[in-house]
Amino acid sequence: MLVLGTTNHGKVRELLELLEPHGIGCRSLAGLPGAVEVEETGATFAENAALKASCQAVAVGAWVLAEDSGLVVPALGGEPGVRSARFSGAAGDRLVVDARNSELLLERLRGVAGLSRAAHYACHAALAEPSGRVVAVSQGDCHGLIAEAPQGSGGFGYDPLFIVPEYHRTFGEIPAVVKAVISHRARAMRAMLPAIVAACSGG
Ligand code: IMP
Repeated sequence: MLVLGTTNHGKVRELLELLEPHGIGCRSLAGLPGAVEVEETGATFAENAALKASCQAVAVGAWVLAEDSGLVVPALGGEPGVRSARFSGAAGDRLVVDARNSELLLERLRGVAGLSRAAHYACHAALAEPSGRVVAVSQGDCHGLIAEAPQGSGGFGYDPLFIVPEYHRTFGEIPAVVKAVISHRARAMRAMLPAIVAACSGG
């Protein structure tokens, strides 16, 4: 059984939908004995993904697939970046935190127009064996623009603000089945798939 190194419901839902069609049985960290809170001290998505995979694999004694992801906005010098989940500093319920983060993003982009609102989501994944050794890494990006106001209620986090130019709509409006093909997470998981399959078949 592969353990997904996160308790973020939005991520867990998307990861399960991406992996289950390939016959990969997995579960989240929620309620798993031994699971720990890993402090994201890395300076990059890649460092944090490896940190989470490695620490949780040792803690739960299983194969762990972790990812670190976030939104990169060049007009804000790359922010919120690795601090995407804690951008506003708000604590508590995930939905409240996500709403505060989105409000702050809009506030920081006030007066920034058109293509200067370009952004991309980045996802770095790491797969660790039970000893904590990271055996595979992958990454994926998804490029778009930050809307002037939230649109739609699908997805999670910054999705109602993230316009996918090809669809002229935000990830809050685009069906989940489409996000599951074009998102940063989907691309990172597709690249990781051979390593996951090998790990799950004992190869
Ligand atoms: P972390 O990887 O747990 O540090 O947090 C990732 C954060 O980046 C999430 O809490 C969201 O704020 C944001 N994020 C990452 N991927 C997505 C996505 O697919 N949609 C919306 N927000 C995302």
